[in-house]
Amino acid sequence: MTTLNDFNFDNKKALIRVDFNVPLNDNFEVTDATRIISAKPTIIKVLEDGGSCILMSHLGRPKGVQDEFSLKHIVDKIEDVLGVEVKFASDCVGEEAEEKANALQPGEILLLENLRFHDEEKQGDKAFAEQLSKLGDIYVNDAFGTAHRAHASTTIVAEFFQDQKCFGSLLAKEIESIKKVMEDGEKPVLAILGGAKVSSKITIIENILDKVDHLIIGGGMTFTFIKAQGGNIGDSICEDDKMELALDIMKQAEAKGVKIHLPVDVIAADAFSNDANTQICDVDKIPHSWQGLDAGPQSIENFDTTVNQCKTILWNGPLGVFELESFSKGTIELGNSIADSTKNGAFSLVGGGDSVAAVKQFGFENKVSYVSTGGGAMLESLEGKTLPGIAAILG
Ligand code: AMP
Repeated sequence: MTTLNDFNFDNKKALIRVDFNVPLNDNFEVTDATRIISAKPTIIKVLEDGGSCILMSHLGRPKGVQDEFSLKHIVDKIEDVLGVEVKFASDCVGEEAEEKANALQPGEILLLENLRFHDEEKQGDKAFAEQLSKLGDIYVNDAFGTAHRAHASTTIVAEFFQDQKCFGSLLAKEIESIKKVMEDGEKPVLAILGGAKVSSKITIIENILDKVDHLIIGGGMTFTFIKAQGGNIGDSICEDDKMELALDIMKQAEAKGVKIHLPVDVIAADAFSNDANTQICDVDKIPHSWQGLDAGPQSIENFDTTVNQCKTILWNGPLGVFELESFSKGTIELGNSIADSTKNGAFSLVGGGDSVAAVKQFGFENKVSYVSTGGGAMLESLEGKTLPGIAAILG
């Protein structure tokens, strides 16, 4: 894997695809600079080598040129984070961008305007990618969040750099973390899959059965499995058309020697609301018109035991409706278990969608080994797909 450390950027211009798709408030101020902070190590390495950086990113989903999606709004924030002045080109290709890139001196940074102001970006247009490629000597991809897209700046542009291309340190860290879980994780390996629906996780489950020793299934997905086994799930969320699939997964797991752990009890509620009446009941004996919205105390204890037995842990998806305080306990306790296990030497990766939000909300971010920065990209990696942005650097 070619990374930043394989290059000396002295007197070189690095064309870096970053993910600066940051949230802005109504005054166009950055409300969460995590993505900018995450790109800092890559940018600083290039500058410290004596090179310059041309940064390119998308922001939001503009339709053509729309001022509200201009990257000019985030120039100040980037300067704050990096402590370096940032020049700005009001178009990512064309004369102004080329002139400003040409004039760039070692130690300087140029930010290009939103790539998605051009439809050619998402179309993966070759001529557009070639125009971008003219701006730098070495292409660096540090945007995991868009690595699953074959866009001009994430994938196609790499064709124009032959061997002058590499992964930035953030993207390298993402790839290593996934590899640590999916390929060379210390055993026993555990995957925890929660969230709402079996249908959105099925490809992950099927791929992961070959890689793990234990699989915890939690959240809304639970009830499709429980009903398929003949349990009473009351009004709990369920995908009836996936019940056969659920039974098939159980069979496959048994054949592969993977132990599946489902909740044994739940917090059931008489409404989908924070102040609903609740009761603890067996997962397969939920009364009529009640619904399971969180893992129960015995399940939490069982999961804690499993988590603490394992040396490699992947977590994707909450154990309950964590957005409502009354049903957040299972997810919080699972976070605590993973944090403990990590402290005792396990490697833990949290990735894909709502579990990342939960980990941030409940303060576990620094208590797990790695929190992925890419939602869709992470899910596709777990499904076993080779991401085009990664393949473009490797190829
Ligand atoms: P996903 O995006 O598939 O990871 O699903 C996350 C969503 O699943 C969150 O918004 C949770 O509120 C929801 N969820 C988790 N457990 C349950 C449950 N028992 N019933 C309904 N929704 C749930």
